[in-house]
Amino acid sequence: MTTSKTSPNKRPIRHTVSGAFVCLHHDLRMVSDELKGSPNHMLSQFTIIDTVIQWTTHHSLPFAVAGGVVAVILVVRAIARTRPVPTDPTRLFSAVQRSEGFARAGGRCEFDKFWLVRCKRPAQHGDHHYPWSRGGATTMGNFTAACSRCNTSKGAKIPTNFSTMRLESRRRKYFPVGIMVTAGERFANR
Ligand SMILES: [Zn+2]
Repeated sequence: MTTSKTSPNKRPIRHTVSGAFVCLHHDLRMVSDELKGSPNHMLSQFTIIDTVIQWTTHHSLPFAVAGGVVAVILVVRAIARTRPVPTDPTRLFSAVQRSEGFARAGGRCEFDKFWLVRCKRPAQHGDHHYPWSRGGATTMGNFTAACSRCNTSKGAKIPTNFSTMRLESRRRKYFPVGIMVTAGERFANR
């Protein structure tokens, strides 16, 4: 249940986690609208950070801590994503790799069609489970059999740890004995 009271500047303070984040979203949208068209990117970043700080001081300690943690995670992720990663000089899987990868997958796409259910379409592409452009290796340790629809919809998205765990768990049921089920090998770790 959401309760609210009025702060000195007439701004409502909501005392649930969802309500507090609604306030933050509202404030960031206002800042975003004000900064539309501004050529000064650094100014935009500082204004957004300032809004987050103001938001944390308008809410009780748990929300302030939660907001601080979210802000730190976003900054760390943004920095990590701008860091250049070494890419495998071999971009495409070979015909031998595709043939081997399709065979171990039983000729079937290895993606989720719906939540936790494996796609039923035939394997047509060799997909880098961890995207090649993000440092994924062009090796069998990073090969996933995919139908064209699943491969196209995935694009260069980095899979979550949970989706990797689901894939590896499923593979234990259909991979031939002795074949490693692990997915997501990085070029830098080969
Ligand atoms: Zn598929």
